[in-house]
This record gives sequence, C-alpha cells and structure tokens, in this order.
Amino acid sequence: MIVGLEEIGQRASTGVLPGGDQVDVLVGDAYRFALRGTGGEVADYIPALAHADPELFGVAVAEVGGGLHAVGDTGVPFSIQSISKAFVYALVCQSLGHEQIMARIGVNNTGLAFNSVIAIELNDGHPMNPMVNAGAIATTALMPGNTAEQQWEAIQTGLSAFAGRTLALDDDVYRSEAATNQRNRAIARLLESYQRIDVDPLAAVDVYTRQCSLLVTAKDLAVMAATLADGGVNPVTGRRVVSATVCRDTLAVLATNGLYERSGEWLFDIGLPGKSGVAGGIMAVSPGKAGIGTFAPRLDPAGNSVRGQLAAAHLSRALGLNIFASDAAVPEADREAG
Ligand code: GLU
Repeated sequence: MIVGLEEIGQRASTGVLPGGDQVDVLVGDAYRFALRGTGGEVADYIPALAHADPELFGVAVAEVGGGLHAVGDTGVPFSIQSISKAFVYALVCQSLGHEQIMARIGVNNTGLAFNSVIAIELNDGHPMNPMVNAGAIATTALMPGNTAEQQWEAIQTGLSAFAGRTLALDDDVYRSEAATNQRNRAIARLLESYQRIDVDPLAAVDVYTRQCSLLVTAKDLAVMAATLADGGVNPVTGRRVVSATVCRDTLAVLATNGLYERSGEWLFDIGLPGKSGVAGGIMAVSPGKAGIGTFAPRLDPAGNSVRGQLAAAHLSRALGLNIFASDAAVPEADREAG
C-alpha cells in the first residue's frame, strides 16, 4: 500500500456525452446490436432464477445530468445478485475508509471462480477482494449496525438511496438461495476459522443472501451506476449517497474484479468499471458521464449476461465511454500547420 496518498487532492478526469437525442439513438443501436447474442444459459444453481424468461432484454443509460434513456424491458424487476456487492462495498468503504478496507478485504483478483474455496486457502484466509463471495460476505459483515437486522436495514436503505427509490426483497429468490447456499455458508465458516470475520458467520451469509435478493430493474441499475459516476450524488434525487473518494475506490475494484474471471477481457473490450450478476444484470460506470444498466438473463460460462456485454461494448464505443481511449490534444494536422 502506498502511504500518504490520501493527502494529495484528487482531480477528476471527465468529459461530456453527446446531446440527449443522440444518446437515445445510440442506446437503440446498442440494443439492436446486442440482439445478435443468441447464446448462453439462464442461471439455475439458485432454483428460483431458472424460471426467468431468457428473451427479456433491456438497456438503460442514466446521465450524470439526470437524463434517462431506455430501450426494451428496462422496467422488469429481477434480483440484483452480485451487483449488490459493489454498493455494499461502497457503503462499507464510507464507514471504514481507504486503508482499513484495503487491509481487511483487499483489492486483487483471485483468478478463480467467484465462489472459490481454494482461493481462500491459497491466500491464508484473506478474502482477496469484495467482488468474490468470500470478500463480499466479509464486507457485509463489516456493515454498520449492532445486529444482523440493523445491518440488513442499512443495506436496504443504502441501496435504495443509490437507486432513488425503495428496493423490495424478492422473497422467493431469497428463500430459494437460503435453502441451497451451503457453499456460501462453508465460505463464511472458513473465514471464521481464519479469524477474518467478527460477527456470526451464518448471520452474515443470511444478510448477504438478502442483499442479493433485492429487486431492481435495468433503469435502477443505470441510476445506481450513474450515482457512482457522479461522485456519489444520485443524479435523479440530487441526494449524496457516498463520498467521491468512495466512488473512486469502488470503481477501481470493479475495474479489476467486476466481471468474474472475465474481468480482463471486459476491460479490454469495454474499458469501464462494471459489475454483473447471475440473474442477468450488468451495470457499468463511466466516471463523470453516465451509468449503464442492462438486463438479459442468458449468461456466458463465467456468469456474465451475453447481451448485456454486447450492449455495453457498443455503448462504450459509440458514446465514447472507454476510460482508456484518448485523442491527441493537438491534432496532427494542426501540429504540421503550426
Ligand atoms: N447470490 C449469489 C451467490 O452468492 C450471487 C452470485 C452472483 O451474482 O455472482 O452465489
């Protein structure tokens, strides 16, 4: 860890989106482009998810100025699943701070599946990063609150503030996962054996399972992502949810770990911090510009929505969102003329 960095002021590196009408057109283009993604399977390891209609598909973009652009099934609710990890991490960052969260949870990729037990063993019980289940459960356990119930309330309130509306729990998905999440319970017990968790591990898994069962729409994901893109202020409600520093730290973790074992490929193709969930949601964040939310339940073998990735890739290029893309400050023709 680099000591003393937090004393240096953080300048933003941001640009502007094209005018509103053009964004509408490009969101439509991205939707049509992504329809070519006809492969993939709906997740069924959580039994309740297997019932999802595989053809549902929606794409939404929320601008930091508050504008919303949506095409397709962007009002259909689905469980947020792993995408909740990003927002719970942000809430815990807010209460713990940069150095504590780095030491307790970590930021490096495991290179292994999101629910890997081997990754914990290989790293002396360290959860490694908050986007794999070990790190996510350990992060949930760090939420402010004296009881699991208080932690759950803080999560539901916090994620609702990101969305700008009260998010409800999908009871069927919660019960279905709670009945079949032996692996997550084993992960929590393993963390406990390494003294990496300070609360009742099974209570932490229960809160984690509930956070994964919160219902969102693609529009909600776009607004939640736009809040991370807007220095922590929800651009629709105008309310601050977390600090700009917390957004920066959360986005760094998403860039390296947000898309399971495909995080490198995602960054190479799309160039944005993002997070996917096994119910078919993806959110991506373009700092200072916009948030993207997509929903399409068919997943690739790593667990990422096939159509969501295609739509995000199209938008990243067409809207100029890729954080690694730049043009020469002085165009070559002007340089020669000068
Ligand atoms: N609740 C799911 C689990 O822990 C989330 C998985 C995901 O979306 O990656 O298995």
